[in-house]
Amino acid sequence: IAGPPAALAVRDLTVRFGGLVALKSVSLDVPAGGVVAVIGPNGSGKSTLFNSITGLVTPSGGSVEFAGQELLGRRPDQILRYGVARTFQNIRLFPNLTVMENVLIGQHSHLAAGPASIVLGLPHVRAEEREAREFVLELLGLFGNRLIPRIDQGVAQLSYANRRRVEIARALAARPRLLMLDEPTAGMNPAESLELAEQIAGFRKLGLTVLLVEHKLDVVTRLADNVVVLDYGEKLAEGPADEVRRNEAVIEAYIGR
Ligand code: ADP
Ligand code: MG
Repeated sequence: IAGPPAALAVRDLTVRFGGLVALKSVSLDVPAGGVVAVIGPNGSGKSTLFNSITGLVTPSGGSVEFAGQELLGRRPDQILRYGVARTFQNIRLFPNLTVMENVLIGQHSHLAAGPASIVLGLPHVRAEEREAREFVLELLGLFGNRLIPRIDQGVAQLSYANRRRVEIARALAARPRLLMLDEPTAGMNPAESLELAEQIAGFRKLGLTVLLVEHKLDVVTRLADNVVVLDYGEKLAEGPADEVRRNEAVIEAYIGR
């Protein structure tokens, strides 16, 4: 999908919402081709971290460097063009479009023709369209047989788990080098969650670097080289999953309230 893997470096990131400090000088690294999971109780700043990296909130300090480029101060569409794509905690798809159409639209940062002309199938974009559709099939195939048989269904008809898979496919359609997944297994049962973990682990082979928010510790253990624990906007702990799950402060933050 992508070029050579690239690294993300977040340094001293601070985000304020009025009087609330949602992130306090948070630093973390995702090495090129690595998978890092962010965990932490509700409201600890995980989505705010994602929103800062993707240009949706403006931090008051710090830096976010990806593949040697500073991302802070860039617009979300520029950040996508730098190779950073994401999914949302609350799925954002076009409910009236099909699986194919939703994923086709994910390619629009790359194609010369706009997304509307691709969906409408204008003649001058036919060759490009054929390639684009083949690429969608390739992406949907990453999820085994979950999505291919449903390619022409409206996404509103899909199960919640399948909508989450379509959202990941759509993010991949932008040919990112960094994929950011905000609670990708939310709403999935344990078997579906582990299946998705296997599939995300396979994305490494495509040259991707992955940063994800994930609560399920078995998924985190399967997938992540390193885990960053946030609590009240601060980095509470960091390390390999098996180490972090034994950390007293982490157990306290999760279970002690
Ligand atoms: P998490 O994803 O870890 O559950 P969030 O990053 O969504 O946490 O939220 C961190 C804190 O920042 C919470 O207290 C939340 O209410 C607050 N917050 C998040 N986004 C905004 C916003 N756009 N405006 C004001 N407060 C926000
Ligand atoms: Mg969140």
